[in-house]
Amino acid sequence: NRSLADADPALYGSIKDELGRQRHEIELIASENIVSRAVLEAQGSVMTNKYAEGYPGRRYYGGCHFVDIAEELAIDRIKQLFGCGFANVQPNSGSQANQAVLLALAKPGDTLLGMSLDAGGHLTHGARPNLSGKWFNAVQYGLDLATGVIDYDQVEALAHEHKPRIIIAGGSAYSRHIDFARFRAIADAVDAILWVDMAHFAGLVAGGSHPSPFPHAHVATSTTHKTLRGPRGGIVLTNDEDIAKKINSAVFPGLQGGPLMHVIAAKAVAFGEALTPEFKSYIGNVVRNAEVLAETLVEGGLEIVSGGTDTHLMLVDLRPKSLTGKASEAALGRAFITCNKNGVPNDPEKPTITSGVRLGTPAGTTRGFGEAEFREIGKLILEVLDGLKKANSEEGNAEVEAAVKAKVIALTDRFPIYPHLG
Ligand code: PLP
Repeated sequence: NRSLADADPALYGSIKDELGRQRHEIELIASENIVSRAVLEAQGSVMTNKYAEGYPGRRYYGGCHFVDIAEELAIDRIKQLFGCGFANVQPNSGSQANQAVLLALAKPGDTLLGMSLDAGGHLTHGARPNLSGKWFNAVQYGLDLATGVIDYDQVEALAHEHKPRIIIAGGSAYSRHIDFARFRAIADAVDAILWVDMAHFAGLVAGGSHPSPFPHAHVATSTTHKTLRGPRGGIVLTNDEDIAKKINSAVFPGLQGGPLMHVIAAKAVAFGEALTPEFKSYIGNVVRNAEVLAETLVEGGLEIVSGGTDTHLMLVDLRPKSLTGKASEAALGRAFITCNKNGVPNDPEKPTITSGVRLGTPAGTTRGFGEAEFREIGKLILEVLDGLKKANSEEGNAEVEAAVKAKVIALTDRFPIYPHLG
């Protein structure tokens, strides 16, 4: 009955250090967030001990009556959030939710039409190294290079040329609203299934700041840990009874064995939080903060792909300052500002270098940063990047980075997280 600190000091130390990192770094990775204490407690609960293959009321193990309550709460709440008739809350990740759609609705060799990785799509949308690209005939659409917006005419032309079984809308680095009605019209014209992967913007839909994929999508997937602010995991939603049955069989027994009941419990808590008026106002702030950050960076001489953002994220084109994503990510990291390098459309650099960084406001907004703080963060980013440009070396400008790091620590100290963790 020893505490973690006693039983495993090495591991305990790594968790303590990670807490310190999260407390003192400005987290701008668009796919991350800071879950509530209640979500953390549910995920760290005794539900981790329980095997529960099957679905509530239809399990292959005894003793499932209490975990059934958790899973039913998660299902009911997510259905209410998105106004849809069916939800599977068992996928262990966004990628597994996406694999469930493929297993349920396509056969190896079928054609998929998804957004290419370098245009802001996700690996699971048909990228070559992914199962979706290896086992399926993946055709990829991109952006209109003049506007940075999805090239809907190209989607339509590719759909008519290749007659895909599934068309995928959604991405990981796309900052604009997606025209779901247009996608559905294209899908209907070629008798394809429209699958919306709302992993990034699901929280925005739940909070009323983004158009909903429904009623346009035949099926929608999401992660639960990005803007939805839950534990790491995935979900699949639909209003189609036939698709629902196929999805349930695809998740279990098709792909997974025992569901992670402690994670499902934490999903239930997060979905409950997302139903509150506080979450709606949080999401409004996420979007406003992203606008302010984008504006500040543009005023400082950077470009934003598509000219701005409608969502929680933006793709910053660093070429006006002749900087790479790799060097910029590292320099910002030394100043305690965390983000990820990201290719921009038609990027002249390799994917391991890139000409961009992706920035997002969900985590910072959760800890309480508002417009004033995001304006300040934008200026701190510009200080680091201008220092890097002036230094003209990947090593950056140590003096500038140290000064910005001190300001970041002062800022994050004003917005503490997890005070109960000591
Ligand atoms: N789909 C999209 C659009 C994503 O952005 C991501 C994650 O970045 C995923 C799916 C996969 O989620 P996970 O990392 O949980 O497998």
